[in-house]
Amino acid sequence: MPYAACPGCDQNIFLRRAPKLGDIVYCDNCEADLEVVNVNPIELDWPWEEDEYEDDEEFEEDEEDWDDDL
Ligand SMILES: [Zn+2]
Repeated sequence: MPYAACPGCDQNIFLRRAPKLGDIVYCDNCEADLEVVNVNPIELDWPWEEDEYEDDEEFEEDEEDWDDDL
């Protein structure tokens, strides 16, 4: 039976069938809805964190360093 570790509490969540990307599974232990973000190996993550990862690249510009007086 496939299973994956809950990112919130490390509990193993057993799945009734092979998961697909984007499936939502429920952790009984910490009562969280989790999204399947990888299937081989199976990884779970909180669904609402996806957008934050996409924005990370834009934050690498450090605007404070542009204050040089030349
Ligand atoms: Zn959990």
